[in-house]
Amino acid sequence: MTTKKGSIGVTSDNIFPVIKKFLYSDHEIFLRELISNAVDATQKLKTLSSVGEAKGDLGDLRVRVTIDKKKNTLTVSDHGIGMTADEVDRYINQIAFSGAEEFLGKYKDKTEAIIGHFGLGFYSAFMVSDKVEIFSQSYQPDAKAVHWSCSGDPEYTLEETIKAERGTDVVLHINEEFTQYLEDATIESLLRKYCKFLPVEIAFGMKKEWKDGKEVETGEENIINDTNPAWMRKPAELKDEDYKAFYHELYPTQMDEPLFHIHLNVDYPFHLTGILYFPRIKSNLDVRRNKIQLYCNQVFVTDEVENIVPEYLTLLHGVIDSPDIPLNVSRSYLQSDNNVKKISGHITKKVADKLAEMYKNDKEDFEKKWDDIKLFIQFGMLTDEKFYERAIGFALLKNIQGNYFTLEEYKERIKEAQTDKDGNLVALYTQDPDAHYTFIERAKEKGYDVLLLDGELDVHQISQFEQKNEHLRFVRIDSDTIENLIRKENQEKDSYTDEQKEGLRKAFEGLLPDSEKLRYYVTCEAAAKDALPVFLTQNEFMRRMKEMSQHQQGMSFYGQMPDQYNIVINTSHPLIQELIGKMTSEEVEEVPETKEGEEPKAAEKKTVYTLAGEDERLHQLFDIALLASGQLKGESLAKFVNRSVALL
Ligand code: ADP
Repeated sequence: MTTKKGSIGVTSDNIFPVIKKFLYSDHEIFLRELISNAVDATQKLKTLSSVGEAKGDLGDLRVRVTIDKKKNTLTVSDHGIGMTADEVDRYINQIAFSGAEEFLGKYKDKTEAIIGHFGLGFYSAFMVSDKVEIFSQSYQPDAKAVHWSCSGDPEYTLEETIKAERGTDVVLHINEEFTQYLEDATIESLLRKYCKFLPVEIAFGMKKEWKDGKEVETGEENIINDTNPAWMRKPAELKDEDYKAFYHELYPTQMDEPLFHIHLNVDYPFHLTGILYFPRIKSNLDVRRNKIQLYCNQVFVTDEVENIVPEYLTLLHGVIDSPDIPLNVSRSYLQSDNNVKKISGHITKKVADKLAEMYKNDKEDFEKKWDDIKLFIQFGMLTDEKFYERAIGFALLKNIQGNYFTLEEYKERIKEAQTDKDGNLVALYTQDPDAHYTFIERAKEKGYDVLLLDGELDVHQISQFEQKNEHLRFVRIDSDTIENLIRKENQEKDSYTDEQKEGLRKAFEGLLPDSEKLRYYVTCEAAAKDALPVFLTQNEFMRRMKEMSQHQQGMSFYGQMPDQYNIVINTSHPLIQELIGKMTSEEVEEVPETKEGEEPKAAEKKTVYTLAGEDERLHQLFDIALLASGQLKGESLAKFVNRSVALL
């Protein structure tokens, strides 16, 4: 054969600038593409050998990556199937034509997984090279070795050459802008990123070891990859230790052990394998150091899986490997891709099934894990209706005694005692049993149960439960008197007039501090005799909205509102009754206000109550209420202490 010159078979002369600039924004993926081709060629050879089409011992099949700093070249060599001149012409020169597809068609059922799904893979070499050469010797008995060379314009040369070994060397003459790809450290880290689990051994230089304080090369090749990663093996072959070991192989810097794992294995209607790990998720949704890694036939593609799996699943760790996810397309396209939707639906189902099974098989063990996984499960329930439906059977509520219940179990448990006179089921909760101690004691006296909801998403979760359960309400234990939280028919009343209570309220209001951030409202209630004479409550709705606004956009309005508290004056308490007794009254005539244009109204007679000379005591009572709810601080606390001493 004589040297052949030609023009690469594309419609435009200017394909190279297009490749360089637009096709691949990540220059580094050229290495992934070339190694994928080398691995493909090796796998193809194995397939041909297994059906008797390639004869003899296949010999050394390692793929090698070498750097020549003097010549500024990076070479990827394989001992795979190789190419004849004809094949180079077809597969390389006519770049729109992908040899992988033809091969797959022919050996459909026997072929080892073929990576070549990436389209213009080989040409990505031109992103970083001035010139690319191919030296190839086909496995076919009479084939002549060929040398192809191209300097980044559509002109190429193709000529016969001599090559001792079967297979292909692709030589990249690295462009001076990209000399980082001639550095060992850069290449090694790229290989570890993209090739860590490829099915054919990839060698890069020699293994090094420390000897006499120096790093020296050993006689052993430095193999980058684990060719048989756990997710490609059968679950029956693997023990728990193997899964844990693989977890640390995936995330070498991770110290914690995962809680448990799910081995995914789907054949129909798409192919997907993988292992998902549940880490301990304590708090803070933003810490996602270890991400799920996405592979395509064992080639690393990305660890940005946000558009591929639902957001809550990104809290998990592990790998997903699927040849059916279109990888060379834009992320926005991925979201609307049908395969991707199916895959994400399937993963959701698998995860839910696994959790349901764990709950069914060993409730006690599941309860032990609950606090570590609840953030994940709640996030899923809040953002994915399908997951909610599955998870409602194992999502748990914990009470302050540390007992766990599903929502249905809990509703059953509190039905008798905690249904109010209007037929609403009222679940009581606290986020901080210490701070709400006195409120909790009151609830216990009444035989009520109190939930502990101290998780980041608990408030969102109970709002969701309320939406889905018509007669169910959750109220924090300090949001009102216990009598008002669960109103019963025979509610206690006091015998004081509205005017008396008005006078009492005014007396307290006169003492309230002025604050932008805190707002107090004074009310009178006939609470229990042995409750505090004055105490604080905080409206459930406002407080919950404020808490939820921390996590949700568009709710910052609530976040900016001041904190609001009710100061409840307990008219059942002897001290308060004594104060009421000390109030003096007088008859006044008051003209009701009129708006502009209204007829002036006639004066009305009114009894006005006032309390004089008791400011010290009122202060003291108010401060005790603040103290009981942990709000008395700084100067106010010091004043309270001094006043207490003086009173004694
Ligand atoms: P794809 O890998 O998507 O098929 P490429 O442009 O990367 O696209 O490669 C085109 C074709 O060239 C491959 O399908 C294969 O037939 C052939 N080829 C590329 N690299 C090699 C190699 N190292 N050994 C044998 N054939 C190769």
